[in-house]
Amino acid sequence: MPICPNCEYEYKEGVSVCPDCGQDLISKSDFDEGLINPGDWEILLTCSEEYEADMVKANLEGAGIQSLIIPQKDRNFPSVGDFSIIKLAVKKEDLESAKQILDDINKGNNQEEPEE
Ligand SMILES: [Zn+2]
Repeated sequence: MPICPNCEYEYKEGVSVCPDCGQDLISKSDFDEGLINPGDWEILLTCSEEYEADMVKANLEGAGIQSLIIPQKDRNFPSVGDFSIIKLAVKKEDLESAKQILDDINKGNNQEEPEE
């Protein structure tokens, strides 16, 4: 099943371009592997907990910025079992605004996770 990396919507076999946004569709397995038109997307952040990525994604959506959560097993740590790396990607043109939003989120969370 081809899927639009933009809309995250699946289409019938044979459809190659998203009718909604004009994005080239990719295969579902590529999408799941995170091999989404790497030229168009930048990784905004990586984290090990999906809820972190979900929270940032929700904030970005609130600001009208599309983002993709890319769950990916980290093959560098085979002994840790299901340790995984969650990547959150945004489109290149949204990267700067997304970083600002991420900054604001991090400032708001300082009391919970001090990093100094
Ligand atoms: Zn689309």
